[in-house]
Amino acid sequence: MAESHSGLRARLKRSGHKLTHARIIVLAALEASGGHITSTELLERVQAADSGIGRATIFRTLDLFTRIGIVRPTYIGTSTTPTYVLMPEGHHHHVICTNCNLVIEFDECDLDDLATRLEAQLNVQLSGHLLEFYGLCADCCAISAEQGDD
Ligand SMILES: [Zn+2]
Ligand SMILES: [Zn+2]
Ligand SMILES: [Zn+2]
Repeated sequence: MAESHSGLRARLKRSGHKLTHARIIVLAALEASGGHITSTELLERVQAADSGIGRATIFRTLDLFTRIGIVRPTYIGTSTTPTYVLMPEGHHHHVICTNCNLVIEFDECDLDDLATRLEAQLNVQLSGHLLEFYGLCADCCAISAEQGDD
């Protein structure tokens, strides 16, 4: 936990942005979230930590963090508001069950070659990825096998 926190700070520094008080508080709130947080939850956490940090500052900070790849918005569960996922090492991976919305995290990543190829092919500079696989979790597989409907 402490390690990924310093990872986020390092990314912010590398991007050439200052570690302002508000940014440090927002980073800490993101970190305390354990990896996923909605903007509403983030507002609550940040304002609980320091009520002097306004809504506009928090959203501006979230925009900055999105732009430099510290977080990415995603739609998991049934929520209509995006959940922000942390990208301390520049990537984040999910397997999402399309039936029960279970989100399984995994760390294994074999995409360096693909990223290098894409950079050459498309003439782009990649800073990270959010990878989501969709399908049925083990429980939902078992249920659908029982019911015999696929
Ligand atoms: Zn499921
Ligand atoms: Zn996640
Ligand atoms: Zn990855």
